[in-house]
Amino acid sequence: MEVKKIEEEINRLKTQLSFLEKSINEIQEKCEHHFKGNQYHEKCMKCNKVNVLYY
Ligand SMILES: [Zn+2]
Repeated sequence: MEVKKIEEEINRLKTQLSFLEKSINEIQEKCEHHFKGNQYHEKCMKCNKVNVLYY
C-alpha cells in the first residue's frame, strides 16, 4: 500500500471518528441518565456516559 493511499484512509477515518464522537455527545446530552457504579465512578446504563467521582 502506498503512503498516499494510507494517508487518505487515515483522513477518511478521522472524519468518520469525529462524526461518531459528535453523535455520542449528542446522545449523551439528551439522555436522561441512569447511573450505576461505585464510589469512584458511575456509568449511565443507557448511554455509557462515565462520571469520575473520586479524584
Ligand atoms: Zn445517559
